[in-house]
Amino acid sequence: MSALILDGTKIAQEIRNEVAAAVKALSAAGVRPGLAVILAGHNPASEIYVRGKVKACEEVGIYSEKLTPPESATTAELLDVVEDLNQRDDIDGILVQLPLPSQVDSKKVLLTVDPAKDVDGFHPMNVGYLSTQRPGLVPCTPAGVMEILKRSNIPVAGQDAVVVGRSDIVGKPAAMLLTNANASVTICHSKTRDLPGVCRRADIVVAAIGRAGMITKDFVKPGATVIDVGMNTVTDPTEFQKFFGGNAKREESFRRKGSTLIGDVHPEAADVAGALTPVPGGVGPLTIAMLMFNTLKAAKMRRGSGVKELSRV
Ligand code: NAP
Repeated sequence: MSALILDGTKIAQEIRNEVAAAVKALSAAGVRPGLAVILAGHNPASEIYVRGKVKACEEVGIYSEKLTPPESATTAELLDVVEDLNQRDDIDGILVQLPLPSQVDSKKVLLTVDPAKDVDGFHPMNVGYLSTQRPGLVPCTPAGVMEILKRSNIPVAGQDAVVVGRSDIVGKPAAMLLTNANASVTICHSKTRDLPGVCRRADIVVAAIGRAGMITKDFVKPGATVIDVGMNTVTDPTEFQKFFGGNAKREESFRRKGSTLIGDVHPEAADVAGALTPVPGGVGPLTIAMLMFNTLKAAKMRRGSGVKELSRV
């Protein structure tokens, strides 16, 4: 058996098209949603991520603004930047790109973001709204996981789901969204006993660990859906061979680039799973698509207009 590959790139494009249409209608009514991204200091990876977010805004018609405080910025200076954005009516979403320079109190900065503009969904107010099933802004990556399940017609209600990872950004909100969608959810982490056994009981496994290929086929019940959130870079040729030996396309790309991206799920899991998200091209593209959706949602909610929930199955 070979798993159905769930095409995240295609699903993300569908969402971006829907957001673009809604942004067009809203702009015609005089409200153009706006996203501000704060990129403090110089972190090459953050610069790439922010470039992707700004480009996505252009594509869907959202106004975007990049603020670039220097590497030496203090907590007080960043709080000023955030407070200024909180006051501006043309800005609906505020995204603070992490990590912030080491001298900055990141938690304080994130807490200062107006919850109504918190498009990352990290503010405790939005965490509370999610856990009490009230309308709010939901973290982008877990919201994307739910969209993949929904748009691939994978049943969630009544299913046993295991989320491996309990971070505030991915694991916990993913578990909460699955619970809200009526799955029976187990959250696992580094102290879980018999992780393979626990995962093997699941109809849906969400892997958000940050360990290359850790979820082997021994973790997967035949026919289960496996959602791979992990993004790990492999540069060691021996490790590469362990995962992708014999995969001509990957081998060619690894030779060219000297690295490859792999999820937390071992490629062999595709022999057992019923459906699987690939890496790259699975959950990754959903994150920016859901950021666009959240900015649109924030623009509508701030003006008292309802928005169809995308991220509740
Ligand atoms: P994180 O904050 O480092 O959390 C990792 C979680 O995995 C922790 O809860 C940890 O358990 C658990 N864990 C680590 N080793 C384990 C083991 N051997 N067995 C069981 N559990 C283990 O990571 P994160 O921010 O949630 O990200 C997870 C992965 O998703 C990373 O690869 C990241 O790059 C990727 N990611 C992708 C996207 C996307 O857009 N596709 C977005 C965000 C993150 P403890 O709590 O016990 O330490």
